[in-house]
Amino acid sequence: METIDIAVIGGGPAGLTAALYAARARAKTVVFETALPGGQIVTTDHVENYPAFPEGISGAELADLMYRQAERFGAEFRTFASVEHIEPSDLDFIITDSEGQQVLAHSAILATGAVPKKLGVPGEAEFTGRGVSWCATCDGALFRDKTVAVIGGGDAAVEEALFLTKFATRVWIVHRRDELRATKCIQERCFENEKISFKWSRVVAEIKGAEGKVTGIQLSATNDEPDEFLPLDGIFIFVGVEPRSSLVADLCDLDDAGYVKIDHSGLTSYPGLYAAGDVTVSDLKQVITAASGGASAAFEALKYVDDRLCSIG
Ligand code: NAP
Repeated sequence: METIDIAVIGGGPAGLTAALYAARARAKTVVFETALPGGQIVTTDHVENYPAFPEGISGAELADLMYRQAERFGAEFRTFASVEHIEPSDLDFIITDSEGQQVLAHSAILATGAVPKKLGVPGEAEFTGRGVSWCATCDGALFRDKTVAVIGGGDAAVEEALFLTKFATRVWIVHRRDELRATKCIQERCFENEKISFKWSRVVAEIKGAEGKVTGIQLSATNDEPDEFLPLDGIFIFVGVEPRSSLVADLCDLDDAGYVKIDHSGLTSYPGLYAAGDVTVSDLKQVITAASGGASAAFEALKYVDDRLCSIG
């Protein structure tokens, strides 16, 4: 079986930065990524709060720059390689991918990120890909001159609602409270945009459709106002994310929501296993904090591997 120094599981900003730091330190580093490198930011039209890009940058472009930088220093990428198991073997880890290929890694960094949550209402599964979407960048152009709704009041919902105004004639933001959670400067842009309207204090009770296409959503009020039906062509769901931590659920401590617990350096409760980015317990989930977490985790993993190899002689 091939032996490497550091296995990075996940190729988003946390994993790409971990790979950059590990490869620059001349550790044999392999990144396993289920799709192409980039992670969730690839689906973000415009990133305007990552330093050094005063005019902002597209998520896909930022991810590509990070990928090229890590690769330039020698990180190896196994794309479309889904890791199925991380199994301790003495002090190492056996990493097994979906094709049954295995590597022995002296240390592993979990950077698997998070996936968008579902609403769990009738019609959601039935109309996914038929008007129900979790990616405005991917599907927004399909709704040119149409009416769509965005569900949620966080950064993702409000940013994506703004993006959707490039195509749709009307974008409803449906939020369960009467106040948005999103960063104030994005809120301001949203309130100024004439194409955006709000349904405050409403939750989606059902997504309705006919002939295989969404026709609207049945809304329930969270205050005393009456329930209502909102006619729509499309619905974009941004009600938060959940961590992809199942690979290590039996290995290290998770919090009640499934996020991986780490110390200040990125170490999990299992020796030699580190984690970084959106999969970890953290207050701030941003590209820059993911990158920072990836750098710390790699720095500590390198020390761990060096100490071990030195003690063996
Ligand atoms: P989020 O910040 O957790 O917001 C989720 C939103 O969905 C909240 O407004 C929440 O309502 C609402 N919600 C949750 N469950 C719901 C349900 N079942 N039905 C209806 N509404 C529901 O999630 P996010 O916007 O996906 O962002 C995830 C993380 O990424 C955050 O830390 C965010 O700051 C970060 N992010 C940052 C940027 C950026 O900096 N440019 C962009 C995107 C994401 P309540 O407000 O009532 O809780």
